[in-house]
Amino acid sequence: MRYSKYFLPTLREVPADAEVTSHQLMLRSGMVRRIAAGIYDILPMGLRVIRKVENIIREEMNRAGAHELFMPSILPAELWQETGRWDFYGKELLRIRDRHGREFCYGPTHEEIFTDLVRRDIRSYRQLPQNLYQIQTKFRDEVRPRFGLMRGREFSMKDAYSFDRDRTGAEESYRVMREAYTAIFKRCGLQFRAVEADSGKIGGSLSQEFMVLAETGEDSVVSCDGCDYAANLEMAEVKGEVSGSFADSGQDPEKVDTPGQKTVQEVTDFLGISPINLVKTIIMNGDKGAVGVLVRGDHEVNPVKVRRLVDDETLELAEPELVQKVTGAPVGFAGPLELDIPLYADNAVSHMSGFVTGGNAADVHMQGVDLSDFIVKAFGDLREAVQGDPCPRCGGSLTFLRGIEVGHIFYLGTKYSEAMKAHYLDESGAEQVIEMGCYGIGVGRTAAAAIEQNHDEKGIIWPVPIAPFTVALLSLDPGKEEVHAVAEAIYDDLIQMGVEVLFDEREERPGVKFNDADLLGIPLRVTVGGRGVKEGVAEIKERATGEEQKVPIEKVVEIVKEMIDARS
Ligand SMILES: [Zn+2]
Repeated sequence: MRYSKYFLPTLREVPADAEVTSHQLMLRSGMVRRIAAGIYDILPMGLRVIRKVENIIREEMNRAGAHELFMPSILPAELWQETGRWDFYGKELLRIRDRHGREFCYGPTHEEIFTDLVRRDIRSYRQLPQNLYQIQTKFRDEVRPRFGLMRGREFSMKDAYSFDRDRTGAEESYRVMREAYTAIFKRCGLQFRAVEADSGKIGGSLSQEFMVLAETGEDSVVSCDGCDYAANLEMAEVKGEVSGSFADSGQDPEKVDTPGQKTVQEVTDFLGISPINLVKTIIMNGDKGAVGVLVRGDHEVNPVKVRRLVDDETLELAEPELVQKVTGAPVGFAGPLELDIPLYADNAVSHMSGFVTGGNAADVHMQGVDLSDFIVKAFGDLREAVQGDPCPRCGGSLTFLRGIEVGHIFYLGTKYSEAMKAHYLDESGAEQVIEMGCYGIGVGRTAAAAIEQNHDEKGIIWPVPIAPFTVALLSLDPGKEEVHAVAEAIYDDLIQMGVEVLFDEREERPGVKFNDADLLGIPLRVTVGGRGVKEGVAEIKERATGEEQKVPIEKVVEIVKEMIDARS
């Protein structure tokens, strides 16, 4: 591609409305332009990257035995009503009416649509298993779209759905997808972790997220330094046994005045104790009523774990008015003594005695409290993991990383197939419900995450497999006949070899060309200039390492080819 002919509008300045690096660099390198909140034009440079990611996804999905098809993006309300998600999805679903007043939505995901296809065309166990996928545009009406392609409203997604005869088959489909995803992100040249995840809105019980590691990532990833255990923070298990017998301090609970001391820090400073000798009481409220959750002063409650233990998905932190009503005190003074709601405690609390708690009255705490002074309905793992916690698998040490979720795999079970009556006949002619799984990858998000992981102050550093071009060929004196001829010859030869080249033959100063090459992040830069041509050499520079070498002009193409092969 000749730069002078290309549609590649780069920007020198960092755009004021772009908060994160990948968004800034996508705008500056002419990959995308915003046309409305969360809605972007993908320019030629951006599309080249998107297509590369798509092709890797496609090849690995096909290799895994999945079949590509293409579904509409405008979906009829009736299918969504069958599963109840027409109401459940809320405002994220962009709803539209056609001229006859019929309701549709712009698809944010396609479980219903794939299930509908399969229930109509699959009759017998002989037609199973199936794994169907598409790479398609989705729309989710996010409240706060931001960060460019990282969290757009309209975005490209690969979504796959597996259909199996039974749970064993579905788990096998899930395993195959996990391997395919691992291959996909490896081939994209990205550092990533597959982490255990909450299955959230879609439902089901087996679920993993694929996180591209980047310091700027929005998600906390907990990762073991001794084995391959990794989980997102909300799911990270804390290995901790509940104590078989509770210690007793021999003290009776005693009131202590703590005027205005509400936070753990304030109370422990005021009383001159360590946070590990305090028990926090968190009031949560849900459809089944309020509960009290007890954790050690230096720990944080993990609401996902509480919801699971209590078996109430609707539990949220209680509003101050409810805390006042339940405890008789403003926020900051809740305690377990004489509290008339079920109490759940983290395992670590079972090892404590003679601790401090809130006093259920303003400006009052209790000290010398033991577990024998109140009733805990159940103990469990209810806190967030912290740096250095033991790994639940191997006992190694947990560390925290930042990541960007780019893929998600779920075992769905029969949630959709039951609601939509997707059945098949088994060998004995009996009707059975199909078992499902679903598997998504954000295509634009993967490109954005690649930039978050691979950039420096000058610009993007694309991994070779998803780079828009592999070589930037710079002609520094395009006006000089001998330089022009050498650069043109190298350009032709590289193209002949099937190398993707961006040939910068613009009438621009060398500094401008170097800056643009760095900004665009093309893995290899080949520079042809007046002095080099006289000496019979050109320069090859690797974007990632900054390593430069001068090579004889007649060897350039051969060496470039070798370097690409070594990095692909
Ligand atoms: Zn481990």
